[in-house]
Amino acid sequence: MGWPEIAFAGRSNVGKSSLLNLLLGRPGLARVSGTPGKTQTINFFVINHAYLFVDLPGYGYARVPQSVQKSWRSLIEAYLTGRPELRAVALLLDPRHPPTDLDRTMHEWLTSYDVPEIIIATKADQVSRGLRRSAQDRIVSALGLSGDQSPVFVSARTGEGRLDLWSRIDDALALRPRRPAGRP
Ligand code: GDP
Repeated sequence: MGWPEIAFAGRSNVGKSSLLNLLLGRPGLARVSGTPGKTQTINFFVINHAYLFVDLPGYGYARVPQSVQKSWRSLIEAYLTGRPELRAVALLLDPRHPPTDLDRTMHEWLTSYDVPEIIIATKADQVSRGLRRSAQDRIVSALGLSGDQSPVFVSARTGEGRLDLWSRIDDALALRPRRPAGRP
């Protein structure tokens, strides 16, 4: 079995590339998208020769044709079912808006595949402290999250939440490998 890995998922434009660049401390490593929804590849980043970050293609860009959405689905499904190294998926959500149907579907998918999740509220600098609680409650109730899945607010712009997120990533990396899908 290969290095353990953490995958990052979210709708296009949610701030995934910016967050990866923040975590990796290297602007430009993950490409901040000029054309949302265009990238349909999975990018792997090797970290410290110890684990991998996996950048899954963003979903839900309105102008993407059905055929591309279908191929996105099968790409992600193949990834989720075929990677026993996967320890958790970081699901990125924009706390300024209610979670979309696709966010909910993604969460339900991950739950059904028994994949632990790290829920991330991105662009935290855009949500005042006073509004955090209601934004958090909205995410928790829209997705039906359990108590240990409370969102971590992170800003790629200010770096807020970075250490909190790293500690969740470290916890996830320490989890035991999942059973390959379909095996008892
Ligand atoms: P991706 O499509 O999910 O990879 O999203 P990007 O990282 O390309 O970001 C989409 C847009 O959101 C860009 O204009 C970014 O500058 C902006 N953005 C990303 N992260 C943050 C953040 O933490 N705060 C703010 N204010 N804007 C952000």
